[in-house]
Amino acid sequence: MRLILLGAPGSGKGTQAEYFSRALSIPTISTGAIFREEMQKGTETGLKVKNYIDAGLLVPDDIVLEIIRERLSREDCKNGFILDGFPRTIHQAEALDRITDVDHVISLEVPDAEIEERLTGRRVCGSCGKIYHVKYGGPAESGICGECGGALTVRDDDKPETVRARLEVYHRQSEPLKDYYKNKGKLQPIDGRGSAEDIRQLVLKALSVVI
Ligand code: AMP
Repeated sequence: MRLILLGAPGSGKGTQAEYFSRALSIPTISTGAIFREEMQKGTETGLKVKNYIDAGLLVPDDIVLEIIRERLSREDCKNGFILDGFPRTIHQAEALDRITDVDHVISLEVPDAEIEERLTGRRVCGSCGKIYHVKYGGPAESGICGECGGALTVRDDDKPETVRARLEVYHRQSEPLKDYYKNKGKLQPIDGRGSAEDIRQLVLKALSVVI
């Protein structure tokens, strides 16, 4: 299955991608995660993308497309993949059309106010990457990961002013993708406001798969 997950930052794409990746045995390709890894390693790409990401802006299409082309050509994508955070512009979607076809495009719909609350309260373990939320107290309040004891941090781009910039970028540059895929008869919008489990059930239904 070749699946695209669309939605604002913080709409739950990563959480759903993680589950469906495991359940369907296909890789998730998250351009944001690839960039964060490159930045952590201090590679040339990491240095090139850092300023854009810290400002909440999109990384230029040529950099993103080079990474996607290489990643999709790998053996583990032969039986399908989940794209999380790509495409984010019409130009990227057109380029993707020239690389491969996709089966499903799911858009997770969450209002801006909820996105702001989700992102600014998000805490990430610097060691194992586990994600928490201050709303649920526990490790998020103590600042210590419940899994590995690592220190929890706020992602630089989850700071309130950057979150607002990312939302603005989403509405202006990425939301038009919904019409792009709607016109192709591929868009399946899903209410992304419930729990991860509620949303997982809705996605399962949209994909018409039994797992
Ligand atoms: P994410 O983890 O998907 O929210 O991505 C974090 C940041 O990486 C975004 O705010 C962008 O700066 C950058 N990024 C990720 N994916 C893309 C993409 N497809 N096109 C441009 N920039 C991207």
